[in-house]
Amino acid sequence: MTARIVPSVGSPLTRILPGQEDDAAPRILTGIAASPGLVMGPVYVHAPDDWLAADRAVAPGQAAAEHARLEAAIARTRQTIDDLRERLTAQDTDVTEGFIFQSHMSILDDPMFRDRVRKEILDNHRTADSAVTVFVRDITEAFLDLDDRYFQEKAADVQDVMRHLMYSLTEADDGADRSYDLDFDEPHIIVASELTPSDTVLLPKDKVLGLATERGGPLSHVAILANTLQLPAVVGLGSALMSLADGVIGILDGTRGVLTIDPTQEEIDAYGAQRQRREQFERTFDQLATEPGVTRDGTRIHLLTNLELADSHELAQGEAQAADGVGLYRTEYAYLASESLPTEDELYEKYCSILADARGRPVTFRTVDLGGEKVLPLLDAAPRAEGVENVRGLRLCLRYPEVWEAQLRALWRACAHGDARVMFPMVPGVAEFRAGKNAVTRAREQLERDGVPCADRLIIGAMIELPSAVTVADLLAEEADFLSIGTNDLIPYSLGLDRTYMDRTMVSEPYHPGVLRALKRVADEGALRDTPVTVCGEMAGDPFYVLPLIGMGVHRLSMSAASIPQIKRVIRSTTIQEARGVLGRLLELPTAEAVDYELHRHMLEHYAHLLVSHAAETGDAEHDG
Ligand code: PEP
Ligand code: MG
Repeated sequence: MTARIVPSVGSPLTRILPGQEDDAAPRILTGIAASPGLVMGPVYVHAPDDWLAADRAVAPGQAAAEHARLEAAIARTRQTIDDLRERLTAQDTDVTEGFIFQSHMSILDDPMFRDRVRKEILDNHRTADSAVTVFVRDITEAFLDLDDRYFQEKAADVQDVMRHLMYSLTEADDGADRSYDLDFDEPHIIVASELTPSDTVLLPKDKVLGLATERGGPLSHVAILANTLQLPAVVGLGSALMSLADGVIGILDGTRGVLTIDPTQEEIDAYGAQRQRREQFERTFDQLATEPGVTRDGTRIHLLTNLELADSHELAQGEAQAADGVGLYRTEYAYLASESLPTEDELYEKYCSILADARGRPVTFRTVDLGGEKVLPLLDAAPRAEGVENVRGLRLCLRYPEVWEAQLRALWRACAHGDARVMFPMVPGVAEFRAGKNAVTRAREQLERDGVPCADRLIIGAMIELPSAVTVADLLAEEADFLSIGTNDLIPYSLGLDRTYMDRTMVSEPYHPGVLRALKRVADEGALRDTPVTVCGEMAGDPFYVLPLIGMGVHRLSMSAASIPQIKRVIRSTTIQEARGVLGRLLELPTAEAVDYELHRHMLEHYAHLLVSHAAETGDAEHDG
């Protein structure tokens, strides 16, 4: 299998690639390289209406039952609106606000609405969700066409009440496929203002050539997912992107971070030649798959994969690159893709199948990491979860134990069937880590009481993603069985940046001396106590960062499977002595720019022929591993 490579999400390399130009013309949009690859095809501007449904049919014999489902959902929505009104009354709110809910009720009771949706279901055999969606679209269009403020506000009211109705419908519709229904067959470059992790998961992969977003940074989850899915992606392309017309042809270069619209013949020819060179270079990776990650002076570096969806495609990629195991399985993706919290049995089966696929190699399950970018509408809507948006990761699970109870039981059960490890995300310090471990212990006690077979012991690690965790890395290294550094969060949390909105002016930030020293400190504390340290953020797949990382003693790197061959090739060409020398020089430098410059100078001087991003551009490739 041929890998498509060049990781280095947001790497400064993009600025020094030969031929890089900063064309201000709106036809050539420049953003941040988020996932490598080069594709050409029609553009589709995707504006997800989260709560609206795809157009789906129901079997004629099921139409009456579908209509009954709608009626039941309307009844539940009436109850919701009543509750909201009561809450307002209890707070002695302005009477006009209560009146709004009165008008919401009247929309639900409106004979025109009831009649329309009934016909859509019983006569046109649409699902209840599709029928409501058709109604919302038609009424909104009609009201907005009237160009009158009263009707525009009315349209907003209709949308509001219909959104409640749609939630009631989906509540009772567990496990339904929520994939976006894109109205074309040929794959397109998907253009969007922003893509949340759920949006990315819900896009049908066979219709996607690549992703281009107006906003977003190199560490955002859409960038990470695109790498995993091996989809070229460019983020932060700016507002001009959203004025593109559907169907216009684009060339998306995820390595350079450029989207060329309506390409000239010359640009199309250049695209063809460049694609050919890259493919030729990437073919040279195949022979590497059977070689281990060992430095020239004999130090074994474990190269592991990160999993998001853990579907057969992702697992096969890891297999093809002969990964040494799974260093990070982001278990929350199973939650994001589902309408309800997954059950213990569903999770147990999923985890068992991942362990079976790993065939004896270690798998690191990260407990569910929600909050921040990864929101779960389901959780937001839960009555007990007020303020849930203010906490993340381990804290969220400790505060709302119902989120991970089923997961902890499933892990105990599944971990009996393979070499499994568990780690907590966003660990602030020892108290929280211990509280997490206590929850894990309680889950086992419950299972034992219930007579359910499970593993004897769990290996439990702490993710180091917060500056506080770095400062107490000595204590965490004592308490935890292993540490895993999540640089995607550690970098923005350390430097006061927003992970989602890092832009092109910030590409040197991962090289900040503050970050470099933090990593070194964690590696040192781990080494002092014989606690293994892994890096599992995007940095682990950045060929420019390998030398400093192995130089500081990090011998476990976890990354998208596609990044493995290139990282392995650098490792097999260097020595620990060289890596330590480079690290030593970098640690003496005072600024991110200086570290960035020195590291790139060293790598391009000695390893340019190994880097896809360089060699594939110039044809200067090394053809044996
Ligand atoms: C990280 O923060 O580096 C990490 C691996 O976790 P995630 O990217 O899922 O937040
Ligand atoms: Mg993280």
